[in-house]
Amino acid sequence: MDFVDTCYLVEHAKGWFLWDTGVADSVAAMPNGLVPADPKAVTWRRPKTLAAQIEQLGLKPADIKAMAVSHTHPDHTGNVELFPQATLYVQKAEYDWPGANNAPRFKPSHPVELLAGDKDVFGDGSVTILSTPGHTPGHQSLLVKLPKTGAVVLSGDAVHFRDNWDNRRAPSMNIDKDQSAASMQKIADTLAKEKGQLWINHDKAQRDSQKMAPEFYD
Ligand SMILES: [Zn+2]
Repeated sequence: MDFVDTCYLVEHAKGWFLWDTGVADSVAAMPNGLVPADPKAVTWRRPKTLAAQIEQLGLKPADIKAMAVSHTHPDHTGNVELFPQATLYVQKAEYDWPGANNAPRFKPSHPVELLAGDKDVFGDGSVTILSTPGHTPGHQSLLVKLPKTGAVVLSGDAVHFRDNWDNRRAPSMNIDKDQSAASMQKIADTLAKEKGQLWINHDKAQRDSQKMAPEFYD
């Protein structure tokens, strides 16, 4: 099946906030895409680079002062170091989770704010990181409240596709099914409370129905 891998850029009066960074921009130069070492069952392709899309908006990577990734699988962290100056909001449980060969999850020099739960990024309730562990130890989702569109929860990989969500199925490559179920419930409760919509990161059918940069939601 085809699936998508979406990055989101949020404009706030206090600055730009980037959510997820996709697979590495270097994949865009590979005509046949890249089969990553893990998981081998997928082929990554990147028709557009994140850098070019940011430039298309009239921005430079250095303009992004804050960012977060939903979790540290490589289809979400591929371009974190395009923004070496941006404060990275990450759950401590994810940051401390040993990578392959005990490698750190992020470059140790990258500025971070380590979290232990939810975080109201700008202090006004407009952008809130939701702790949603289960897929990984420190997985997180993002609640964004837009003036006209209303509340949106960006799933990360708490669910991969609409079908996972409708049936409350934990995805494969998941570390804790009970935590995943609780996190899906937390997202459902948040959507009910905020009358929000769920945007599922890897769901192609949903993504194909949405506006893409340089178009935007306000
Ligand atoms: Zn993913």
